[in-house]
Amino acid sequence: MSKSVTHFPEIIEPVLNQISSGGKNTRNVPAPFDSVPLDDIDSSLLEGIQPEIPDISEVECVRHFTRLSRLNFGIDHGMYPLGSCTMKYNPKICEKIAARIQTIHPADSSCMQPILASLHTLENCLKEVCGMDACTLWPAAGAHGELTGMMIIKQALNARGLERDKVLIPDTAHGTNPSSCAIAGFKTQNIPSGADGYLTAGSLKEHLDENVAGLMITNPNTLGIFEHEIGEIAEVLHENGSYLYMDGANMNAIMGIARPGDMGVDCMHVNLHKTFGTPHGGGGPGSGPVLVKHELEKYLPLPRIRQEKDGNFSLRWNITESIGIIHSTLGNLSVLIKALVYILSLGPEGLRHASTTACINANYLKARLSGIFDLPFATPTLHEFVLSDKLQKQQNITTMEMAKALMDLGFHPPTIYFPLVVPGAIMVEPTETESFDELERFALAMETIAEQVRSDPDSLRHKPEGTPVEHVDEVWAARNLVLTWMMDESNT
Ligand SMILES: *Cc1c(COP(=O)(O)O)cnc(C)c1O
Repeated sequence: MSKSVTHFPEIIEPVLNQISSGGKNTRNVPAPFDSVPLDDIDSSLLEGIQPEIPDISEVECVRHFTRLSRLNFGIDHGMYPLGSCTMKYNPKICEKIAARIQTIHPADSSCMQPILASLHTLENCLKEVCGMDACTLWPAAGAHGELTGMMIIKQALNARGLERDKVLIPDTAHGTNPSSCAIAGFKTQNIPSGADGYLTAGSLKEHLDENVAGLMITNPNTLGIFEHEIGEIAEVLHENGSYLYMDGANMNAIMGIARPGDMGVDCMHVNLHKTFGTPHGGGGPGSGPVLVKHELEKYLPLPRIRQEKDGNFSLRWNITESIGIIHSTLGNLSVLIKALVYILSLGPEGLRHASTTACINANYLKARLSGIFDLPFATPTLHEFVLSDKLQKQQNITTMEMAKALMDLGFHPPTIYFPLVVPGAIMVEPTETESFDELERFALAMETIAEQVRSDPDSLRHKPEGTPVEHVDEVWAARNLVLTWMMDESNT
């Protein structure tokens, strides 16, 4: 084992209970004016539990969390070009406004008019951006949106008296696509994209039969390539009585420019936590609204937001064809509010500008880096592109080693080893929020690594060296998984 290989990372920051030392008297919270009389509380609820609240001063607490925030890498630290994830900077104004609203106790809709009006506006904005007829805001993530969409399609097929159980999915798809279909009760069949990286209507036709419920396609796909036969694809599906589901996680490339509804899409989701103003990552919360054409509207989950003739809004619960409830009422409300603020503050021109800039930034980097790295698909791409480690492998340096070296140069690595159709994939999505100077710094960092691979490959084998947790022994870690924090000093 080399010196720089870590088994258990040194504990860099203790937990609050370890920082705690008695006698600081930091819990002298005054009794609230309207304190609840203790005799009103069921005594069984008061017994036995003594919370272990750490005794630390305010400054110790602030420093603890500040130190923790520096151990991690986030978009507020630097560029995070994680392909397919759209790790763009999200304006703080969205957070500020959403923080005032956060959540609302489900109440009589007469008390909820401003919230329902806001959500209704958001539905209309998303319908307009996507070219679709109806929307539900409740799914909690992209994958949850896919599941909701496939349940809707199943319900629609059942209403037509059809038992179709097969969904076709191109080989470039995100891993959530087949799993959502499986959870919704469908069998999935992988279909190969062509040598150029896109699917043709002709090749799709070969896989169609009376059992095909639909096709789940991502557009632009995970190679960043726009599926330009999407119109024909929709036609051959519809001729076969099948539906076209579009995974809209990559809407950041086309919002304000092209609308899935106009391409013949029947049902789709968008990821508000990628495209529309909520940071992605950190475990949530997210939101994956689903949009459908008129034919599928009655199957949308409950409740539906309805505007009455008098202009007031209400929640509609009595729709028998609906697939039912898929989330607690009003979904992840703070994410929905952030999306509304984002869309209204940018406006149609701003959204179009964001997508155009995302595509230009990605194409600049692609032009800058191809040749230095292998570019497996020469097909034009939009907001992201995929390189591979083919050239560097000649020196026995892989994508994994280069991704780790990039951390020492101050960047989060791109997405690696995905999509699966490219061996040793390096998938870069810079997004529209990086400046030209930052793109250039990233390109220089990638060039530096490629140069090191040529001149001194061994120097790259134990990266990273400058991060809070240095190079770890992955095989050891995989065999000796430690997933929980132990209070024991040795942390084992
Ligand atoms: C991110 C992503 C998903 C899944 O979205 P989650 O919100 O993570 O569930 C699905 N498809 C594509 C193409 C994605 O990029």
